[in-house]
Amino acid sequence: MTKNPTHSRTIGHYINGKHAAGTSARFGEVYNPATGEITAHLSMATADETRTAIDAAQAAFPAWSNTPALKRARIMFKFKALLDERANDLAKAISLEHGKTISDARGEVTRGIEVVEFACGMPHLMKGDFNDQVGTGIDTYSMRQALGVVAGITPFNFPVMVPLWMIPMALATGNTFVLKPSEKTPSASLMIADLLAEAGLPAGVFNLVNGDKEAVDVLLSDKRIQAISFVGSTPIAEHIYTTGTKSGKRVQALGGAKNHLVVMPDADIDQVADALIGAGYGSAGERCMAISVAVTVGDVADALVAKLKEKVKDITIDQGLNEKADMGPLVTPQHFAKVKDYVDLGVTEGAKLVIDGRGYSHKGHEQGFFLAPCLFDHVKKDMRIYKEEIFGPVLSVVRAENFEEALQLVNDHEFGNGTAIFTRDGEAAREFTNRVQAGMVGVNVAIPVPIAFHSFGGWKRSLFGDHHIYGTEGIRFYTRLKTTTSRWPSGGKGIGTEFVMPTMK
Ligand code: NAD
Repeated sequence: MTKNPTHSRTIGHYINGKHAAGTSARFGEVYNPATGEITAHLSMATADETRTAIDAAQAAFPAWSNTPALKRARIMFKFKALLDERANDLAKAISLEHGKTISDARGEVTRGIEVVEFACGMPHLMKGDFNDQVGTGIDTYSMRQALGVVAGITPFNFPVMVPLWMIPMALATGNTFVLKPSEKTPSASLMIADLLAEAGLPAGVFNLVNGDKEAVDVLLSDKRIQAISFVGSTPIAEHIYTTGTKSGKRVQALGGAKNHLVVMPDADIDQVADALIGAGYGSAGERCMAISVAVTVGDVADALVAKLKEKVKDITIDQGLNEKADMGPLVTPQHFAKVKDYVDLGVTEGAKLVIDGRGYSHKGHEQGFFLAPCLFDHVKKDMRIYKEEIFGPVLSVVRAENFEEALQLVNDHEFGNGTAIFTRDGEAAREFTNRVQAGMVGVNVAIPVPIAFHSFGGWKRSLFGDHHIYGTEGIRFYTRLKTTTSRWPSGGKGIGTEFVMPTMK
């Protein structure tokens, strides 16, 4: 897309410690989803610009990886303090481009800061193992070392938190970084670049190119990129994983989701309804850990649907900067159209649309991408609205006769990111947690996003690769193990010639 000359703000890149205006003839459009206005144009990084960012990261790697972990951690401490100080500015930038409420955006920033806090402990976390005397006069020790230049490719829905799942972990372990943020919500990550520089990060250690496939293709093929962390939709995650691993890179690619919440007959219906309202409609359903399917067991569905209908009326829909808003608009006009089409499809497929948010128009913001909450009942497992990720404020109720049928539904689904069970029965909860095929499980917790000192990731087609992200899994992903066996025989003493596999003597 070429640039509309009436819009003056153009967003570029951050390479080798400096902001860089883009040179591309291609531009993306950045919206304020609440007003529907285009607020900026994004220069789509060219292949050459992307290679320049990799050049900078490659040049910075020897000194940065050789910097004592304690010094790297001290920069993370300063970065954390700066993030705390500017949390509100970051939240505002998120809300203005994503549409989510400012309070939700603050929560996102906090969850990102928690990963920085974890990374501040890296000198301890990276400690290796040591055994003396594994053979006579022989010691063995292991250490974890940085990979080199690593890349992050991030989605629109968490412009601060998801980059912070990667950046502090990669940098504190000694890697240098190239970030390719979402083209829909780019501004907050450029603020992160400034804060890292202010914290004392040397030029070239962190670089950022804005753009799309053209930039990503270079990150996937350039031999200097050692590893890629990707978060986004499943088709792109799969593409990143297969292409990246084929060219010898380490890849963790987190994909889409369709998270089920199982409601057991003994659950407190009020608690379940509150949980579903927040987890289904918070952030307008644009969360990979949103609950999009409620599986009711036995005969709880009618009571639950009635409760949901009642509680939906209390949701305050508004532009994200309103402190009292519970839910904002969808991110772009294209995404709005896609989600609305899914609601139309559900009706055609024969699901019962008990709450219809399609006709909603927000007073004073009629051009905004607002869709009010939608609720489908009697959704069946062969419907596309059940099988596919909608990523909007659309909740489906699927009725199951018993626990086994509910569990089977979760386990048969293509995605396995998060799931939850609401019950007062410990045995059912334990059985569910053990047998469910998903990476993150909640027991009476609707959105079980693990805290920074655990790790985040799904199963099945919600994650391609071996490692979950951040926490100890993040350290393993961004480092490789080296094990040394050493001896220091006195000079002049023969060590003998050995022709057999060495064994302990
Ligand atoms: P997306 O897959 O469209 O984009 C993600 C990133 O990939 C962006 O940076 C984008 O520019 C890039 N990209 C898009 N198409 C590409 C292509 N053809 N080649 C190379 N790069 C490409 O995802 P999105 O719409 O930004 O984000 C929403 C999706 O992300 C949802 O599916 C959601 O479930 C998922 N998500 C998953 C997690 C998780 O942890 N599993 C977290 C957040 C979001």
